Amino acid sequence: MGATSADLRCPCGSTEFVVRANATQSVGLACCTNGHNAFLLDSRDVWFDVIQDSKPRQLHCRCKAHVFGLSVDYAFREGTQTVGAVSVHARCTACGAARDVFDVEIDYEPTDALVARPLDPVDDPWLKAERVELTGLWQPRDFVRVLRFAADLPKARPLFALWGTPVRETPVDEVVQHSNPRASSPLCSRARRSNHPPSRATRGGGCPSSRSTRRRT
Ligand SMILES: [Zn+2]
Ligand SMILES: [Zn+2]
Repeated sequence: MGATSADLRCPCGSTEFVVRANATQSVGLACCTNGHNAFLLDSRDVWFDVIQDSKPRQLHCRCKAHVFGLSVDYAFREGTQTVGAVSVHARCTACGAARDVFDVEIDYEPTDALVARPLDPVDDPWLKAERVELTGLWQPRDFVRVLRFAADLPKARPLFALWGTPVRETPVDEVVQHSNPRASSPLCSRARRSNHPPSRATRGGGCPSSRSTRRRT
């Protein structure tokens, strides 16, 4: 595997961050010293699931300081530009001590965004989605109308779990495309799945040992 590393810099120019991370789930949030929040790597994909339970812990150095410089190491798949794994490292700005933040194996493609934008800006990372479960026997046309109606509600941020993917903000058009009756899978199961986000135990294709592996389809 080839490898490369990069220091992280907020779009405002700051290279110093307060960091929250959950190493088990391989998610992290960095807030620069000017107050700009960004997800680390692809944390957005699972963040909203993770914060349903608890806030990822803030990183503190042994010296008690809590401001860090951040860097990421990418490992590429043999002979490709596809990222196979990434690790995030922090260095205390007060005493210089280094520590690992989290590692994540990447099991999807393309992975260009991980390299182009390791900091993924977010305005309000603590906004929790209110989950509503709907069950219905709908004609495809009605299903699409229900989706569009829900997405157009004031302040609505539609999150979906398309089959085999984690819950994430998904444009309704993308969901409609997936629920196209001409698509290979039956609509009824896709519609049902859209309304039943997978539990954490089933994320990553149902393999319990893959919690730190990101998969998408
Ligand atoms: Zn900033
Ligand atoms: Zn320190």
